[in-house]
Amino acid sequence: LMQLSIPLNFIGFIYREIRQGLTDIEQMFDLLDVKQEVTDKPGAPELVIDKGAIAFRDVHFAYDPQRPILKGISFDVPAGKTVAIVGPSGAGKSTISRLLFRFYDIQQGSITIDGQDLRDVTQKSLRRAIGMVPQDTVLFNDTIAYNIRYGRPDATDSEVEQAARMAQIADFIERLPQGYKSMVGERGLKLSGGEKQRVAIARTILKSPTILILDEATSALDTATEQEIQSALDIVSKGRTTLVIAHRLSTVIGADEIIVLKDGQIVERGTHRKLLEQNGLYASMWNRQREASEAEERLRQMREED
Ligand code: ATP
Repeated sequence: LMQLSIPLNFIGFIYREIRQGLTDIEQMFDLLDVKQEVTDKPGAPELVIDKGAIAFRDVHFAYDPQRPILKGISFDVPAGKTVAIVGPSGAGKSTISRLLFRFYDIQQGSITIDGQDLRDVTQKSLRRAIGMVPQDTVLFNDTIAYNIRYGRPDATDSEVEQAARMAQIADFIERLPQGYKSMVGERGLKLSGGEKQRVAIARTILKSPTILILDEATSALDTATEQEIQSALDIVSKGRTTLVIAHRLSTVIGADEIIVLKDGQIVERGTHRKLLEQNGLYASMWNRQREASEAEERLRQMREED
């Protein structure tokens, strides 16, 4: 038994060491790596991107066959437009973004981009066409410039700086003693959620994808940060086909269409104004969230006055 347990402990030790060194990359690619059940068809062509029109048709999906998550979802994101998905926690919003990347295959229906079924094209070409600003950005243990340049490794310094400016993070970076050479990540400077999100936006600006997915952070940000991020997002989504996975509702007001998802089905859809008039689920979510954020803002002000 002794003989067996020593090597096992040792392997465990090595494994943890490797894991710690690699967590950034791992988190970045976890979905890409783990989901090997999705494979390219033999001889699959590359996705031919025109304007990036997305169509979901009667999409049924379950991670586990016993538990359907999406139950017949149909919607379009017309080229260059913005569609937001909202709905209670667990409704299946983030699942929709994972399906668009084809991290999983659907059980029924189809998802197309510019008329091509995602299952018929290479995953590489698909993922190249889509940029994602994730909920929680993982930063590499490297300089802030490296982290932005990751969006397009051949970008010049001035392109990196321009992207940072558009993402409203340049002023912050320039105030750091080492500027763009400042180390960030677990072992460097810790950035706030809002700062990390702006780094992700800068990355995406450099990548310049035809299709953009914004997976909005769940965490509440203060009003000023939220406005800065919103204006950065407006810049990056302008003219791109954009799908917003909205956990808060502040970013959806300007969407061309809002889709309200509940228990894997679309229960309401329309513009912000129309949905408020309808006085249904969206309107009640909106009112509840507005009350909550007003209360939060009042608390913040009280704390600042102290
Ligand atoms: P939230 O607003 O809380 O982020 P959401 O609407 O984005 O929620 P999803 O993340 O799409 O919800 O999850 C929908 C359902 O699918 C949840 O019940 C969740 O538990 C389940 N689910 C998500 N990912 C997996 C997975 N990898 N394996 C099994 N079930 C999963």
